Amino acid sequence: MKHLSMPPPQLPPPISRHVAVIGAGAAGLVSARELRREGHDVVVFERDNQVGGTWVYNPQVEPDPLSLDPNRRIIHSSLYSSLRTNLPREVMGFKDYPFIAKNDKKRDQRRFPGHREVVLYLQDFASEFGIEEMVRFDTEVAHVGPVEDNIGKWIVRSKRKISDDDREVSFGFDVDEEIYDAAVICNGHYTEPRIAQIPGISSWPGKQMHSHNYRTHEGFQDQVAILIGSSSSSVDISREIAGVAKEVHVTSRSVADETYQEQPGYDNMWLHSMIESVHDDGSVIFRNGRVVVADIILHCTGYKYHFPFLDTNGIVTVDGNRVGPLYKQVFPPALAPWLSFVGLPLKAVPFPLFELQSKWIAGVLSGHIALPSPEEMMEDVKAFYETLEASNIPKHYTHNLAGCQFEYDNWLASPCSCPGIEEWRRQMYDAASKSKRLRPEIYRDEWDDDDLVLEAYADFTKYTR
Ligand code: FAD
Repeated sequence: MKHLSMPPPQLPPPISRHVAVIGAGAAGLVSARELRREGHDVVVFERDNQVGGTWVYNPQVEPDPLSLDPNRRIIHSSLYSSLRTNLPREVMGFKDYPFIAKNDKKRDQRRFPGHREVVLYLQDFASEFGIEEMVRFDTEVAHVGPVEDNIGKWIVRSKRKISDDDREVSFGFDVDEEIYDAAVICNGHYTEPRIAQIPGISSWPGKQMHSHNYRTHEGFQDQVAILIGSSSSSVDISREIAGVAKEVHVTSRSVADETYQEQPGYDNMWLHSMIESVHDDGSVIFRNGRVVVADIILHCTGYKYHFPFLDTNGIVTVDGNRVGPLYKQVFPPALAPWLSFVGLPLKAVPFPLFELQSKWIAGVLSGHIALPSPEEMMEDVKAFYETLEASNIPKHYTHNLAGCQFEYDNWLASPCSCPGIEEWRRQMYDAASKSKRLRPEIYRDEWDDDDLVLEAYADFTKYTR
């Protein structure tokens, strides 16, 4: 039988779109790279005068320590001065641009480096891929919304900064208005604090602040401090404060009501169950029955998703800290693919996830990757919400990928025809998480996964040669 030689199947030529990316943090930078790699024409809007987002440390804090005033001057970053990464650098970096220690004495070579090293890494990334030329710095986006009757066109209104004397920043009133085919939202979600609701707080006489406005332990000397929350920031800050405070009481909602434990290695720090109430004599009563007269309550209670510039006529909402409806955490079905979000997931390794989400978005926008119909995407979202409800998972955990982050990453990688998450990264993440839980004081400087480090560096040679 004669065999006819068939030409290989050909992808249609990619369609180049005019895309606005909001934010030049890690998510915006990698989105810009992936979009341009796919042939799109990209403008990145960045309110700050440099790339890096959260990782640009700002010693200033907001004037309102709880950040409740909607008209306050916003400080974007929530980093404290002593912050070191809570992930090993090998796990943390982008998949194809490893976060390896630089052979340069001015750089932080530690495996869990300080925050400055991360911003330098992001700057390196931006210059390696020529991203800065796509960024409009000092430009705040004030409005993103569909052009009336045309969800394939988006209006982006932006304002240029007119002065910054380090104390006062103001954005001009001259608003630029432009039309884009698509908008990719990368504005970060660690800037708008969430505050714990505490019975009796209005008459409690002490000070309150949110960890968003914590930079150093200054102001905590000889104080009795209560920290609400037990996630990464609280673990670090409680230890830093314990070095100078009279007493530190950490309250957690994830422990049993009777919990009252002196923290190993400290004679002035205790873990409690939740606060029951606070009173006008300064006392704080915990569910475990303990009473503490405290000077200051520090809310380490996380952040709210906040898109003050986004107007989708109610199609995308933030309800109980659920941004939705979103197909696979990225596309609102009714507006896909013209609106997308990079970086919403929590409890996941952020940079590789951003990389995969943005590859997917870039491929969908160019026509290389197909999405299901809006109806099918909506069905998927509904089914996802039903699964959460059936498992009694509250709305505010919609973006929490604990336990399934790597499956999610691999799901994203598949239509992009790129490798998924490396086995060493998965194992190293598990090892680091365990070590952090068991040895919060020392996990950044002592580890026992050198075999995985070797594997990671062998893998990195694909990108570093
Ligand atoms: P961001 O970095 O917040 O960037 C958003 C950008 O959008 C900013 O530059 C902002 O100026 C800009 N922007 C916002 N609104 C507008 C607007 N209207 N117009 C124009 N520009 C705008 N991750 C890790 O991997 N490892 C860690 O150890 C780690 N530690 C963390 C510790 C703390 C205290 C916090 C808060 C987060 C930590 N993270 C860590 C998570 C970190 O947030 C992510 O790593 C990542 O940097 C988030 O990137 P992003 O681009 O989504 O957001």
